[in-house]
Amino acid sequence: MEKVQCLIIGSGPAGYTAAIYTARANVKNVLFEGLQPGGQLTTTTTIENFPGFPTGVEGYDLMAKMREQAVNVGADVRGGFVQSVDLSKRPFVATLDGGETIEADTVIVATGASAKYLGLDDEKKYAGQGVSACATCDGFFYRKKVVAVVGGGDTACEEAHYLSNLASKVYMIVRKDYLRASAAMQQRVKEKENIEILFNTNTLGLFGENGVEGAHLIKYKGTEKEEKFDIAIDGFFLAIGHQPNTAFLNGQLALDEQGYIVTDKLTTATSVEGVFAAGDVADPRYRQAVAAAGTGCRAALDVEKFLAAQ
Ligand code: NDP
Repeated sequence: MEKVQCLIIGSGPAGYTAAIYTARANVKNVLFEGLQPGGQLTTTTTIENFPGFPTGVEGYDLMAKMREQAVNVGADVRGGFVQSVDLSKRPFVATLDGGETIEADTVIVATGASAKYLGLDDEKKYAGQGVSACATCDGFFYRKKVVAVVGGGDTACEEAHYLSNLASKVYMIVRKDYLRASAAMQQRVKEKENIEILFNTNTLGLFGENGVEGAHLIKYKGTEKEEKFDIAIDGFFLAIGHQPNTAFLNGQLALDEQGYIVTDKLTTATSVEGVFAAGDVADPRYRQAVAAAGTGCRAALDVEKFLAAQ
């Protein structure tokens, strides 16, 4: 069976940075890119908050550059999806979607998190044409326009607040009759005159000829007061939470109550010795490309130290 010193799972900023660092440290590595090579950033447009790009960089280009850099310094970057891992003993064994197996002395899990969607067909229909799950990525395109944010948690409030400084009007579509967000976040939202909260409201669908032009909503669904109505919007933002991509781990690493991998306070070590986690899969809080790259670097340095100690 093929054996490497470090198996990196995932190809977002965390995975590629870990690949760059381990390759430069002469650690024999392999990175499997997964189902969405380049990760979440490949689905966004211009990134203006990744340092080093004074006029911004397209998400796709940034990830292509990270990949190229990893390959240039000697990383072994491969297509392929890690279907399962056996972390019960070292070397660890990973099984790919094609059935091949590979042994590894260490593993860096950098599989990211995926934004949750409502599951409407229209979300797919208007993907990239008015539907987004990232206000900080795409909000800029809705200057002086009308947008809606779905969700009533901290993320939704944060996104609504962020968008309210760009858009002329922001609707919040909240399915309950209250916001789940912290009091401070609620206060910030309620203080904004151009944010209107639609409580007890669910989304039935979206409409528009060239991209999103509006949403079909329903209030008090399933009750006597049930009422259907439409709102005119240019953008529809999902903020109903993120799901860390950990299913393939099959419960072998400790996760927090939200499903994120728990890491040591000071390092990227997980509950299994020799397994490290980097990026959004272990980050319920920041979820930024540059933060993910930072933890990818840390995970690689942790791997180096771990291998040296063996
Ligand atoms: P949350 O799980 O806290 O909130 C999700 C929101 O989306 C809820 O209002 C929920 O409604 C709603 N929702 C979920 N599914 C659906 C659905 N199918 N249809 C309609 N609405 C739906 O997720 P967040 O991403 O907001 O936050 C995750 C964690 O991160 C939280 O612990 C939060 O506190 C934290 N966080 C902290 C921040 C900060 O401190 N600055 C910023 C961002 C996040 P319902 O209430 O009805 O379940």
